[in-house]
Amino acid sequence: MGTYGAPQRVLVRGEGAWVWDADGRRYLDLLAGIAVNALGHAHPVLTAAVTAQMATLGHVSNFFATGPQVALAERLLELLGAPEGSRVFLCSSGTEANEGAFKMTRRTGRPEVLALEGAFHGRSMGALALTAKQAIREPFEPLPGGVRHLPFGDVDALAAALDGDAGQRVGALVVEPVQGEAGVRPLPPGYLAAARELTAAAGALLVVDEVQTGVGRTGRWFAAAGPDGRVDADVVTLAKGLGGGLPVGAVVGLGEGPGALLGAGQHGTTFGGNPVCAAAALAVLHVLERDGLVERARDLGTRWAADLAGVDDPTGLLAGVRGEGLLLALELSRPAAPAVARAALEAGFVVNAVAPSAVRLAPPLVLTDEQAGSFVAALPAVLAAAAQEEA
Ligand SMILES: *Cc1c(COP(=O)(O)O)cnc(C)c1O
Repeated sequence: MGTYGAPQRVLVRGEGAWVWDADGRRYLDLLAGIAVNALGHAHPVLTAAVTAQMATLGHVSNFFATGPQVALAERLLELLGAPEGSRVFLCSSGTEANEGAFKMTRRTGRPEVLALEGAFHGRSMGALALTAKQAIREPFEPLPGGVRHLPFGDVDALAAALDGDAGQRVGALVVEPVQGEAGVRPLPPGYLAAARELTAAAGALLVVDEVQTGVGRTGRWFAAAGPDGRVDADVVTLAKGLGGGLPVGAVVGLGEGPGALLGAGQHGTTFGGNPVCAAAALAVLHVLERDGLVERARDLGTRWAADLAGVDDPTGLLAGVRGEGLLLALELSRPAAPAVARAALEAGFVVNAVAPSAVRLAPPLVLTDEQAGSFVAALPAVLAAAAQEEA
């Protein structure tokens, strides 16, 4: 179906942060399949894990348990610092993880859900109801009801929405720690902590959508993690980077209450917890830890953002760099992101025009210093070519 724009290239092969097109041209992949390929392409550990699991037991349905499924759930709870009574539901995508979270909010008995302006939570009907962008919602209305979008990063607006009798109708607040699809917009410092306090006081769930930010991307295992590494929320959703390229998502209910919101027969999915996908996710988590790639995302991301912000740019197009770890955006002074992405591709770099004035960089976490540096070196010419196209 014609749901996507015309593809720019046909890709045939990848290795690490490199991909090759059907004409044999090589590109540095600074998008990683939209923050998915944390280990890059064709990583030997991931390839071996998936191959071995497929050759052993590929799929069984949720009438049965498998070792990888259980191990993955336990590993996720460990990484999140999850309290006793926490539960994991495994699924196959980000939108599906957020559908699960949405269903959990309905089980609170409260009919309303708060989300933020600029939010992106997915394209299936429930997740789309949580998504803010009018242009992608409107063709599909009516969407599931009760969702209200609050001003981004505004603690006073949140406090007002959760206050008094009105606040007692709110089942949950759903937030991304860094809004990815809105152009890589981090929540202001202090917002998540305030959201934790305000939702707890009102008896509402705090749902953190870490589909894009989770699993090391921002330089922490989870972007919402506190200084002790623990995520202080009621529900966390994951997908994208978790499977390193295989479709894996997860909804985690943190603690006894959230862990018990969905009971027997209330939710399900045929592929969820599939042992091949679970083995892939376990391999990703293993390599991230073994190779220190989460710390690397933080350190390289910090240096790279500074280097990118410092490039000599006579076009005046580059206004700044924002984001955390290896989830960054070049902020442009004009809505020229599509032209910059085209010029970058011509120069051998895959980047993404995530918003009219923002170019997203979400490379594999295995990106080398040299590879990162090559984009810094190429950026002035890329911006010049984009400015020329504009003129
Ligand atoms: C990509 C994304 C989703 C949707 O994930 P899909 O796997 O595309 O369904 C949901 N939330 C956030 C924050 C995302 O970035």
